[in-house]
Amino acid sequence: MEQANKPRTTTRQRRPRLRGGIDLGGTKIEAIVVDSGNTVLGSSRHPTPTTGGPEDVAAELVKAMTGACAAVGIEPAALVGVGVGSPGVIDEATGTVSTARNLPGWEGSFALGPELESKLGTKVVLGNDVQVATDAEFALGAGRSYRSLLGVMWGTGVGGGIILDGKPWVGRGGAGEIGHVVVEIGGARCPCGRRGCMEAYAGRAAMEARARKRQKEKRTELFKIMKERGRTKLTSSVWARALERQDKLAIELIDEAIEALGAGIASAINLLDVPAVIIGGGLGVRLGQPYVKRIRNAMQPHLFHDAYPPDVVPAALGDAGGALGAALLIKPPAARRSAARRSPAAAGA
Ligand SMILES: [Zn+2]
Repeated sequence: MEQANKPRTTTRQRRPRLRGGIDLGGTKIEAIVVDSGNTVLGSSRHPTPTTGGPEDVAAELVKAMTGACAAVGIEPAALVGVGVGSPGVIDEATGTVSTARNLPGWEGSFALGPELESKLGTKVVLGNDVQVATDAEFALGAGRSYRSLLGVMWGTGVGGGIILDGKPWVGRGGAGEIGHVVVEIGGARCPCGRRGCMEAYAGRAAMEARARKRQKEKRTELFKIMKERGRTKLTSSVWARALERQDKLAIELIDEAIEALGAGIASAINLLDVPAVIIGGGLGVRLGQPYVKRIRNAMQPHLFHDAYPPDVVPAALGDAGGALGAALLIKPPAARRSAARRSPAAAGA
């Protein structure tokens, strides 16, 4: 699955400062190699292991990064460094990832950074997956014209990233958990164990659980489409296909998700008053502009300053945003950084 995007013969002769980026997701691992202008030169996608433990996930990350490098004709050790966007609690100083619950056997802590450094032979920097995807949209994508914004990654869960006055706001390390903003006191059980969180209605994992419960009362093709597509989960593409087929249960659950997103995101805007909300993540990217518009409409009745709604726009970097944001954790050569910000070269990748 390695892909080279128009490899240039001059790439190796000029020995440019190439960087690696890895998006470690619950279902797939996306590795890319970028140049100093953040153009994607090569990529490789591997499924995330569903069994085993952190060592197995780390081994797959190494394979994916090595594959992306092979597409460009280099070894990982030739990279300036590799950034990794990971779920879970990240300790940047020690390179450990803890309680990454959607990864197999990752309830505890694992020193992912040092492990990858020893296998790849280059510097590795870890970041939170949602925050790096937001950083990528801010630097290279839909957020380029704003100084402050809220990124909402609508996927398996609902994650948030915050940029205030040009800088990521991570709080004490736990900021941006917009999925766990309460939209209904005593409401539905969230995968986090609490009740009434936005994610309990809008996260893909929670939506799948709701679909399984309700399939007895309401006929649905969701699980048939899942099987047809050879999936074991209701992926974003399964939801998109069911909506295309006007599946009643899919429509009902997506409607509930949009209501919850509207209330939760509007509440965050009432607090932060940032000028822009960027909707990304697996479902956000797959469903795109029409659904982003519906989220914007669902926010409106909950906005306190309702005459001044923020811009609500789809993520521009698509699926590549997470890996690009991870690559941004490795700083490009200083002289070219301003050029990188002007040129969204990788937007189509
Ligand atoms: Zn929750």
